[in-house]
Amino acid sequence: MKIKNGFPITIRIAAAAVGIALLTLSGIASAQTDAGRIFRAGASTSNITPAVGTSINGNFSDETVQHIHDETHVRCIVLDDGNTQLAIAVADLCMVSRATLDKAKRRASSITHIPVEHMLVSATHTHSGGTACSVFQSDPDSGYLHFLESRIADAVINAHNNLAPARIGWGTGSEAGQVFNRRWNMKPGEPLINPFGNTDKVKMNPGVGNPNLLEPAGPTDPGISVVSIQALDGTPVAILANYSLHYVGGVGKGEVSADYYGMFAGRMQQLLNADRQHNQFVAIMSNGTSGDVNNINFGAASSVSSPPYHQMQKVANIIAAEVYKVVQQIKYQNWVPLSVKQKQIELMVRKPDKTELTRAKTILSKVNKPVLTSVEALYARETVLINDYPNQVSLLLQSMRIGDLAITAIPCEVFAETGLEIKAKSPFKSTFTISLANGYNGYLPTPAQHQLGGYETWRARSSYLETEASVKITQSLFEMLDLLNKENNP
Ligand SMILES: [Zn+2]
Repeated sequence: MKIKNGFPITIRIAAAAVGIALLTLSGIASAQTDAGRIFRAGASTSNITPAVGTSINGNFSDETVQHIHDETHVRCIVLDDGNTQLAIAVADLCMVSRATLDKAKRRASSITHIPVEHMLVSATHTHSGGTACSVFQSDPDSGYLHFLESRIADAVINAHNNLAPARIGWGTGSEAGQVFNRRWNMKPGEPLINPFGNTDKVKMNPGVGNPNLLEPAGPTDPGISVVSIQALDGTPVAILANYSLHYVGGVGKGEVSADYYGMFAGRMQQLLNADRQHNQFVAIMSNGTSGDVNNINFGAASSVSSPPYHQMQKVANIIAAEVYKVVQQIKYQNWVPLSVKQKQIELMVRKPDKTELTRAKTILSKVNKPVLTSVEALYARETVLINDYPNQVSLLLQSMRIGDLAITAIPCEVFAETGLEIKAKSPFKSTFTISLANGYNGYLPTPAQHQLGGYETWRARSSYLETEASVKITQSLFEMLDLLNKENNP
């Protein structure tokens, strides 16, 4: 069973003279000025393409690599304000477990001495990359996990090796035409029976032109956040972008591809004339809050099919063009303060009750195939697996400050409305969220979205946190953002 496209940072001023002027104006202690401070940045990539014959995840059924259409990478930037160093790395993976990332971070930290808690590593959410954690019927190969640990670490180590004086700036663009909420309220009529035998109120991926469509059950976030880093002579060093789009998809069977994330990186390099530099230019597209948002316009009259890879190339070009426009407007700063907060929180697991477990076991007893093809059996198996989970799990949350820009990191597939709430309530001028970061704890529907049901709420290793999880996570992030904000504005 394969679901198409569905699833499976006080103003700081560098010049000493202006620093004194600021001191006179506001009485801020001289220790707060930034005279003589040097801001540095470095970027790097490392290749994490899975070998032919290994596992690809992102669907209900496992797939085996038959062909590599385009290589998959970890793309990393390291920033250094003279006091604090931090690393942001994004890997072309559907999701990656905390265990693997923790090992990669420790390895990178042992060489770079960047504290592990100053490293943010996320997955793009390509559905055509190597399997890096167990989900549905895909399990990672231990060799690939070992390879990933060292290659993720290499991206951080190389970016750290490339540290050189740099300037940095950021801005925001918008592209509303490529994001569509995929959860829909339907006209009354046909009951929406889920794999647990209960009735849902919303349908995920209801089909383009479905006559029973009423309205999307949630918003989209069309914002494109852009961080641009240049060498002091204006040579492009790196772009870190963030857009809330699940992925695009449309690959050939058994084919490896970094999806639109990889094509965006290539297109940005082309637009900025940053080919074949001595220090490689690195463009990164991180996944925003796209748990309920994909690239299919369900409200259109009819669906348009396009050859493999055409739609992802189109989306990559459109988003890269908008990012290029934003980059032209960016005002660069020669020094900005960096700071990171990391926190671990405990959340309850939505474990099945006795009746649910019995039902699941009964369903599975009637199936004697190695590969499950019915959604009911698939979720019965997930119910049994979640029953073995601990009652509580710990999640790693991060907030980073880069000047007056903030980045929050959540190890989940976060809904657009949660990302929009963080942007609106953050004490920082600009804030964006990187999803699927520092681990993988499944979908993060809001409590209200849990009430509606639908695929993203169906209990599985891809959705198992307590129904209040999004509220507790955002509360913790706001506490961290407040601390970061007070730290630099005493
Ligand atoms: Zn997903």
